[in-house]
Amino acid sequence: MFNRGLAARIKAYAQGGNTLSFADQCKDLTQLKKAEETAWLGEAHSQVLQQSLKDLDLAYRHFMRRVKMGEKPGFPRFKKKGRKDSFRYPQGINLQHGKVFLPRIGWVRYRDSRAIEGEVLQATVKREGEHWFVCLACKLELPDPASVAVTENRAVGIDVGLKNFAMLSDGSEIKNPRFLTKALARLRKAQRRLSRKMKGSNNRKKQVMKVSRLHARVKNCRKDFCHKASTAIVKNHDVIAVEDLNIKGMVKNRHLSRAISDAGWGLFIQMLKYKAEWKGKHFVQVGRFVATSQTCSGCGEKKPMPLSVRSYSCGNCGLVVDRDWNASLNVRAAGLAVLNACGGA
Ligand SMILES: [Zn+2]
Repeated sequence: MFNRGLAARIKAYAQGGNTLSFADQCKDLTQLKKAEETAWLGEAHSQVLQQSLKDLDLAYRHFMRRVKMGEKPGFPRFKKKGRKDSFRYPQGINLQHGKVFLPRIGWVRYRDSRAIEGEVLQATVKREGEHWFVCLACKLELPDPASVAVTENRAVGIDVGLKNFAMLSDGSEIKNPRFLTKALARLRKAQRRLSRKMKGSNNRKKQVMKVSRLHARVKNCRKDFCHKASTAIVKNHDVIAVEDLNIKGMVKNRHLSRAISDAGWGLFIQMLKYKAEWKGKHFVQVGRFVATSQTCSGCGEKKPMPLSVRSYSCGNCGLVVDRDWNASLNVRAAGLAVLNACGGA
C-alpha cells in the first residue's frame, strides 16, 4: 500500500505537478479494492491500509518541511518486503489474558510479559527476524510532577561518554557494555559466510536469518541494559538532569560513529525521560551551550579541556576531580537551576 501510494504520488507530480493528499489517496483506495487486479487489498483491514497511507503522508510532510528549511532530505523511499514488515491498527484492539484481538485476523496468542496499563489506543504489529511483536500504545494519566519537590539530595546529573557509558553526579559509573563491538567478530564471520552463499538458495536464506538473529541479539542486549540502568536511576532520584546531546551530529564523525551508535545513549535518554514522566519525576535536558566539561564544578571557573585530559584540576579553587564526574556535577547544577528558575521547586 505504501509503495502503491508513493508511486501514485510520483506519477501525479510528474504528470502535472499535482500533490496527492492523504484524503485523495484514501478515495483511490476504495477504487483499488473494487478493481479486479487489486481486489486482494480487500482481505486486509481497511484502517490498516489507511495507516500505511498516513505513514506515507507523514514521510512526505517531513520531506517538504525539511526542503523548506533549506536542507537536503532524502526523498521517501519504496519499502522492501521482508526488511521491516509492520502494520498498524488505529483502534479496535481487544485484550484478554494472553490474547490480543486484531481486526480481520482474530484472536492471537502472545506472551504478556507485563501488565497493560491504561486504555489501549493503537497497536502496531511488526516482524523482527523470525519473531512477531505487537506494540500497544496506551493512554495513561500521568502523575503531576509539581507534587514531587525539587530537592538537591534527590537530584542526579548524568554525563554520557565513551569511556564510561554514563557517569552519575553521585560518583557512580555505569560501564560501557559495548555489545556490538563484542559481537562484531561473530557478525563479520556470519556476513562473510553469507556473501559466499548462492543467491536465491535455501542456504542463503538460512544464513540471512542467522545474521539477522545476531543483530537482534545485540539490539536486545542493549535495550535490556538501557532498561535496567534507566529504571534504577529513576527509582533512586526525583530530579534527573542529562546533557542534550547532538547524537546525530556526533554519529557523522566517522571515527566515533560506531562506538556512539553502539553505546545507545539515545535509547537510554528516551527511557529516562518517559520513565521519569510515568513516575511524576523531573527530567531536564541541559542545553548543549552549557560548557559542562570546561567548567569547574566547585567554583565555576572555566578552562579549556582537551579530550585527552582525563581529570579536572582547578587552578582557582584547587579542586581535582575526574573529568566526567566534574561534567555530571555541572549537568546536575544546571538542571537544578533550570527547574528552580521555572518555579519547579
Ligand atoms: Zn574551581
